[in-house]
Amino acid sequence: MKNLVLLGSTGSIGEQTLNVLEKLDDWNLKGISCYESIDKVKSQAIKFRPDFIAINDETDLHDLKNGLPDNYKPEILIGRKGFVELAGLNNIDMVINAIVGAAGLEPSYNAILNGNKLGLANKESLVIGGNLIIPLAKENNVDIIPIDSEHNAIFQLLKGEDRSEVSRLILTASGGPFYGYTAEEIEDVTVEDALNHPNWNMGSKISIDSATLMNKGLEVIEAHWLFDYSYDKIDVVIHPQSIIHSMIELIDGSILAELGTADMRTPIQYALKYPERGNKVAESLSLKDIGKLEFNSPDLETFPALRMAYECGQMGKGYPVVLNAANEIAVKAFLNKKIKFNHIPIIISKMLDKHKGRTFEDLNEILELNRTVRELTEEVVSTC
Ligand code: MG
Repeated sequence: MKNLVLLGSTGSIGEQTLNVLEKLDDWNLKGISCYESIDKVKSQAIKFRPDFIAINDETDLHDLKNGLPDNYKPEILIGRKGFVELAGLNNIDMVINAIVGAAGLEPSYNAILNGNKLGLANKESLVIGGNLIIPLAKENNVDIIPIDSEHNAIFQLLKGEDRSEVSRLILTASGGPFYGYTAEEIEDVTVEDALNHPNWNMGSKISIDSATLMNKGLEVIEAHWLFDYSYDKIDVVIHPQSIIHSMIELIDGSILAELGTADMRTPIQYALKYPERGNKVAESLSLKDIGKLEFNSPDLETFPALRMAYECGQMGKGYPVVLNAANEIAVKAFLNKKIKFNHIPIIISKMLDKHKGRTFEDLNEILELNRTVRELTEEVVSTC
């Protein structure tokens, strides 16, 4: 049996990972973690009996323990340190990191530091820490298998291709629920409208990021680090049906695409089975039923977040950290109905203007910058 640690087990990717695990007979769930969904993590623990459970807040400990069967005594880890420790356990065959946001960086880093293969569903690990994570993974000979659907598609497409013959990566974007809206139309959209993604069933943070196109922007930076292509060789095309998960272009002009239903269980299983393939876990794609596929250019005027992400990626240094931290706070404020939808990119832009382009050498400096920008963004949000 192979041992899996699943960070963020109660989120959308976490739950779908457990669904895939039930269909596979060669994996043992060694550890799970959650931020605050204690009832959910408890029922997962009772079902899968992991040896380790990590939760964020010590005050939830009693709730978690209360109701576990007498013959089941998992080791319970607490807080940020607990998540990091879980990611770095010995004798682990894969760590799937499905934590939401910048909080995923430290666990990703520690997994790789300890030689644990990483199934990456936390794009922020690379957006804010790619310059540390990628060299460390190379040095420690650790595979990172992307679970983000676009990057998983590109990972599959690059397999077997000579790198010198791949000229361009093409990420597809659904366009989100406000595809086709004008800047005026977008002003009065509600949280409920923004959470209503047409194709993918996802958590609230990533749903808002999809609606602003920031998700695609973060994915461009993620692709840059994962596949080592410069930003001018990474394109984004709007493809509202989300059937093509991404493409690569070869030097002779051929374009290769990976197609499938919009179901994250396929890339999750791919990561678990790699380099083999497993049997189908999602519904088959019927191209006859779909009929037609559409493509369009992203509207960078109405959705400036994508343009800002390209710029931050190209500028490098601390800019992607600022972009991501400001976005996380602005999205939270929008979800809490403190700001309007179109204030999200305005707030991020303000924070980027304040940033002086500091470089950093280590993990602590990234975390410190992340913390500072979050605090400053909270202040800006409170004056909106
Ligand atoms: Mg994606």
